[in-house]
Amino acid sequence: MIDLFGGHPETDALSDVDDVQFLDTTLRDGEQAPGVSLTPEEKARVARRLDAAAIDVIEAGSACTGPGERATIDRVTDLDLDATVTSFCRGLERDIDLALECDVDGVNLVVPASDRHVTTKVGTSHDENVHNTAELVAYAKDHGLWVEVIGEDGSRADVDYLEELMAASLEAGADRVCYADTVGHATPDRTLECVSRLADLGPTSTHTHDDLGLAVTNALVSVAAGADLVHGTINGIGERAGNVALEEVAIALDHGYGVEPMDLTEVYGLAQLVAKLTGIPLAPNKAVVGQNAFTHESGIHTDGTLKDDAMYEPYPPEKVGRERRLALGKHAGRAGVEAALSEHDVEVDDGQLAEIVDRVKAIGDRGKRVTDADLLTIAEDVKGADRDRTVELLDLTAVSGVNPPTASVRLDVAGETRKEAATGSGPVDAAMNAAENALSHEVDASLESYHVDAITGGTDAVVTVEVEMARGDDHVTVTASDSDITSASVTAMVDAMDRLVTDEGEQVIADD
Ligand SMILES: [Zn+2]
Repeated sequence: MIDLFGGHPETDALSDVDDVQFLDTTLRDGEQAPGVSLTPEEKARVARRLDAAAIDVIEAGSACTGPGERATIDRVTDLDLDATVTSFCRGLERDIDLALECDVDGVNLVVPASDRHVTTKVGTSHDENVHNTAELVAYAKDHGLWVEVIGEDGSRADVDYLEELMAASLEAGADRVCYADTVGHATPDRTLECVSRLADLGPTSTHTHDDLGLAVTNALVSVAAGADLVHGTINGIGERAGNVALEEVAIALDHGYGVEPMDLTEVYGLAQLVAKLTGIPLAPNKAVVGQNAFTHESGIHTDGTLKDDAMYEPYPPEKVGRERRLALGKHAGRAGVEAALSEHDVEVDDGQLAEIVDRVKAIGDRGKRVTDADLLTIAEDVKGADRDRTVELLDLTAVSGVNPPTASVRLDVAGETRKEAATGSGPVDAAMNAAENALSHEVDASLESYHVDAITGGTDAVVTVEVEMARGDDHVTVTASDSDITSASVTAMVDAMDRLVTDEGEQVIADD
């Protein structure tokens, strides 16, 4: 029988909570995700954004890892942020000394809590572990540090022992203790039991992982049980299935309970920065920050959204620094297509609209997304208008296998031929840079996203490159397909630039 929260009347208290703090561990636990390594400069960029988002504590790394890691922590402590900056430390005096070398404000002292960790991993006894932990806390406090004691694998520990260990830590002067569901094993009931016991002792944090898909639930249950500081990472990156995603806890607390633990409008910018720097992309359906979270494609949903923004959204996208998007595909209806066309200032009559909707649905039926460029091309075709291009790609040369890779492009820009060369991290990057240089005088456009799909398998696969570019408030998404990835990339970019300048030209003429 599932007896969720049976006999725990204190769970009602979530609606009474008025303040929750966040500890962000993107730079420590998040960086432990397979294949992720951030440079000091990259860590500094993330830390600045976290601070701007009013995150209370930033765990900047693990000082014992080595001199390289200490340099990155040092770079973060040098920023002089409002947030408390900490280092992860194992239960060793040497680790605390190394953290002090990095000038941190505090330490997250990790000591074994479960039998598995106390005896098998660390090879100590339960009593010795309590004694050792209390001594380390006193040592760190003597050196002026803020101290949080994390009982590693706490969710699998004997609760009485966990309570004894944490009580000794607080008595020795620790500022707070932390319940750690290190392997993401706990049910909400277990979380409630452990956190309630610790919160009775003193200030308690919670550290949850998503192995059972329960990280957010367990974080919220922890808060209901008395925890007032939640550990997590941006986008939920971390070892295995990851840590709890802070942006998800933040919106759940804000939307459900009116508690705002961070500046939510910073969430999307942070998510994009972390995805870019770590190379871990956001799943399109990811809560809060996924590409589709505020995108409406189905005809009925689009129609409803156009009548009332809140029709198919729990909260407005602006709340988390985003915009609503209407996408077109096989579910497209008249209202959605008309709205998309009017975003580009294209007017059509009823007959033309019906034909455009049919053709959009036909592309969607083939399982393809209908981009802005597709829609505008269809509309021009239906209206019988031949569009004059402003920017056209004449030719492209890219050389790889040289250092650095080099490319040159020749473009026709409003009848004038331009040639530019550039270098890059690879031939695609070099060619994109060359095209950008050739157009930079008049097109102040930025590349918002770049995405490649192989349509067929094999090394001769045709690839489709999708680029999204923005110029001021204008956004366009364009795709191009070719068996040559460099050529597809530059074609898509040049087409997007052409759309941005040509749309602008038409608007200027129309305004006159
Ligand atoms: Zn963890």
